[in-house]
Parts: sequence; C-alpha cells; structure tokens
Amino acid sequence: MNPTAPKHQFVNPFNIEDTELVIGGLKLSRLAQRVGQTPFYAYDRQLLNARIAELRQNMPPELKIHYAMKANPMPAIVQHMATIVDGFDLASAGEMKVALDTVMPATQISMAGPGKRPAELGQAIAAGITINVESQQELNVIAALSEQTGIQANVALRINPAFELKASGMKMGGGPKQFGIDEELIPTVLQHIKSLDLHFKGFHIYSGSQNLKAESIIDAQQKSIQLAVSLTEHCPSPIEKLNIGGGFGIPYFPGDVPLDTRPIGDALAEAINQSKSQLPEAEIIIELGRYLVGEAGIYASQVIDKKISRGQIYLIVDGGLHHHLAASGNFGQVIRKNYPVAIGNKMGIEEMETVNIVGPLCTPLDILADKVPLPKAEIGDYVVIFQSGAYGLTASPTAFLTQPNAEEILV
Ligand SMILES: *Cc1c(COP(=O)(O)O)cnc(C)c1O
Repeated sequence: MNPTAPKHQFVNPFNIEDTELVIGGLKLSRLAQRVGQTPFYAYDRQLLNARIAELRQNMPPELKIHYAMKANPMPAIVQHMATIVDGFDLASAGEMKVALDTVMPATQISMAGPGKRPAELGQAIAAGITINVESQQELNVIAALSEQTGIQANVALRINPAFELKASGMKMGGGPKQFGIDEELIPTVLQHIKSLDLHFKGFHIYSGSQNLKAESIIDAQQKSIQLAVSLTEHCPSPIEKLNIGGGFGIPYFPGDVPLDTRPIGDALAEAINQSKSQLPEAEIIIELGRYLVGEAGIYASQVIDKKISRGQIYLIVDGGLHHHLAASGNFGQVIRKNYPVAIGNKMGIEEMETVNIVGPLCTPLDILADKVPLPKAEIGDYVVIFQSGAYGLTASPTAFLTQPNAEEILV
C-alpha cells in the first residue's frame, strides 16, 4: 500500500440539518424527546432498505440473501427485514420465536449453533425450519425426536471446512472448532443419514465474520461451492440448499476501507454458473448480519459531566459499555480502537477539542472514545456512536452495575 495515501475516513450516512444529525427524518434532539430518554439506539429503515437494494444490484439475481438475526434481533428490525430479505438464519429458540412472528415462511428459516438443546430442536422440528446440524450427537437427537413425534425434520449439515476465511475479524471455520462437523467426517455422516427418516436439505458452510477483503470472501465462497460439489456423490438426495455463509464486514476504524461487493457478486455469478450442472436443484444462500444492519444504527447518549484530569478532558455520558460493549473495545477486539463518534447536535462545528468519552460505570473499561478531536461539547449535548446497528444492545452486559436500560427504536 502507498504509505502517503490518505487513510480512508468514515463517511456519516445520515443527513445533517442545522448542525443536528437527522435519523428517520427527525433531528436527534427531537428524536430523544420522542424516545423520552437517553441512552437509546436508533435504526434507520431507509438505510436498511438501501443496503439490501445495493446488495441485490451487485449479487447474482438467483442468490438468496438471508438475515442472520443475532446481529440485531430487535423484533421491529426482524419484522422489517422479513419484508426485504429472502430468509432468516437464527441460533436459538428465542430468536426463532421472533422470526416466526413475522411473515417469513418457515421453509426459508434455518437454525444453526452448537449445543442446541433437545427442547429447542423439538420446537424447530415442529416449526418446520431447517436445522443446520453441528454434530453427530445432534443428528441422533433430531432423528429420535422425529421418530417420537412423527414429524420429519429438515436437516442440513454444517461443515467445518478444512479451509479458513482469510483476514476475518472472527474465524468460525478451519482447524479445530466447536462449529459444524469436520469436512473429512461428512461422507460418513451422510451415509448415516441414509438410514434415518430425515429430509436432507443440504449444507451450511460458515467460515467467519467481519471481513473487508473481497478476495478472501471470493476465495472462501468458491471453496465452499467446490466442497459441496465434491460431496454430492455422498448425499442421500440432491442438495436443495447450499448456504455458503457471509462474513461481509463494515468499516469501523480509520483505514478500514468499505467492502466493494461488486467483484464478489461477479465471481459468485460465475461460480454458481459453473456448478449449476452438478447442483441443479440447489438454492445458493448467503447469510449476513452485520453488513445488513450495522451501518443503519446509532447509539446516542448525553453528557452528564465534563471534567479535566491532569490536562485531559473527560466527557462522562449516561451510556456506556453496559449497552455497547463493542464500542468500548471489549467484544472481540485485540487492540482497543474508537468507533466513529460525533457530537450529534454539533455536526460540522469547527471549534474542536480532544476529549475522552467515558460511561458512568465504575470500571476503567467503560470507555466509548479515547482522545478524539470533536466539537467542544457541554453538559446535555449528545454523543453519538455510529456503526452501532449490529452487535449492540444484545451483545452487551446490560445487568452490569444495575444501570437503567437503553431504549431501541426503528425509525
Ligand atoms: C454470527 C453468524 C452470522 C452473522 O455474522 P455477521 O458477521 O454479523 O454477518 C451468520 N451466520 C452464522 C452461522 C453466525 O454464527
């Protein structure tokens, strides 16, 4: 890379009116009045729609786009997503309840995750969703439940591939993993399925998360399709669903370059085309969480106190790591970096100072921003953390320090 090239800077996707951020058509201060409190998360419906529209432009038309609910399981979001995506991927009975309350048909819903309990599996079988089987033991429990209830379960095998998704924020495949069944064991498991009364749907290959390198994603997708093709001879019936994962990332930190999905779509179109004769009945699926919702959300808090300690300015806000663990740097980051942050009612104001933004918790981990230049803020001003639509509230330790809850709204 050219060391003199300017680092990619975060681009705020929201409008600004009279120095205020506008979300869902409302100025931030008005929105806060409407919510009735800070802190809150706000998600913008138009940005969700725009993201899906752009993705469909770039992806091959036959590709199915699923929403991975764990990124943001807020029922209003899931309801909205049900109208713009092709399916849901979920990972618990709790998420399944939210998903089944939407218009999404059960045939377009799958459940993954290690350690599914028999009760959850029973519910999933009754619902008719596809269970992505994560172990031989789980398969046996599903078969027993199917037999007991007389309801034929829909199963796909989640494969832990021999390859890995390179340059991923979190790797979830390759090497020893708690996820899926090792690739080399799959032919034996498929053989076993032939003796069970189950509906074999296909495969699920999910190798990682938060990836900003199109080439790595293309590589993993091609390998996933090749892997499925190589397994067809062992399958009890034709592959109906081939879920090749996702892992599309979003930019959080200076220098993170947004993912260009166009080359991914082009390569995928070619890979799907090439494999068509070997996978004639397969619906090809990608499952995305963060990429679909992450950029559509903000977390807003208000300044309670402003103090100077040995020359450094601290803005103490009413929100913190208990609502937004990821922004504090404690959700999988190795080195703490600042999420994009702004004073939401002082957008574009030039008089700046360098501040530390911390939450109200009695722990030095409760940092929202470390030494960032921002417009001069006072008590009552709004601190906004961008890129907060995914892995926000439900990925945070909300009971820690028994603080008030954050609200969530979809506007
Ligand atoms: C977490 C997860 C996802 C979503 O990951 P994102 O990085 O949010 O896109 C998709 N599928 C499975 C199996 C997951 O575990």
